[in-house]
Amino acid sequence: MRQKLAAGNWKMNGTGAALAELTALAEAFPAQATAAGKSCAQILICPPATLLSRAADSIKGSAVTLGGQDCHAVPSGAHTGDTSAEMLQDSGASAVILGHSERRADHSETSESVAAKAKAAWAADLVAVICLGETLAERETDDTLKVVGAQLAASVPAAATGANTVIAYEPVWAIGTGKVPTLAQIADVHDFLRAELTARFGAEMAQATRLLYGGSVKASNAAEIFATSNVDGALVGGASLKAADFEPIVAALNAST
Ligand code: PEP
Repeated sequence: MRQKLAAGNWKMNGTGAALAELTALAEAFPAQATAAGKSCAQILICPPATLLSRAADSIKGSAVTLGGQDCHAVPSGAHTGDTSAEMLQDSGASAVILGHSERRADHSETSESVAAKAKAAWAADLVAVICLGETLAERETDDTLKVVGAQLAASVPAAATGANTVIAYEPVWAIGTGKVPTLAQIADVHDFLRAELTARFGAEMAQATRLLYGGSVKASNAAEIFATSNVDGALVGGASLKAADFEPIVAALNAST
């Protein structure tokens, strides 16, 4: 059984004052909390790296875990302004988002560099949350599966397992726009990703790997997205910044079968 995962990406938002949101979330989801007969979803919040150490104090005793938003492909060296996977792990992270479309666009990240970062993440005992997704132009030319298939193949290294890797399908045109694919479109991509993982890594790995949907997830659409084929949770941007917005998303995931 795959443990469901509600992940929040704070992006470049939040100073110390934002830790109150994390404290509120931690209080809402204590470590031992389980709905009757159901296992609690894992909660992963990825704040700016500057907040990680303090965030680690805020989430103690809760079901909330922490992640980074990117890491460098090497552990240390002359890379001004970058953060290594070891540094994230040392600051309290257990995972790192890699290949987010904003990094692919703003920093010209390629799937090959994402794969190198995933190996660095694993070497530091971090779970790699690898993001994939098509642009609107690619969706409109019916190239979605071709694009996400190529990104999956090149971004996920051969040593991926269900324990060290999470895949997040995030259509670029749905991020921060309020636009969401139809449930059938989400199911098509998630079924395809599961089949691709099965073909490359075998059924055991494919069945163990969490597939997240990301792009304008909010309380009002979470339940139907979580009921969609092969969706194991969500990667949430805007609606993860406030505990009051994120809590109902986590609750919807806990309530999903
Ligand atoms: C994201 O940035 O990964 C994301 C899904 O953002 P939003 O939920 O705001 O669309």
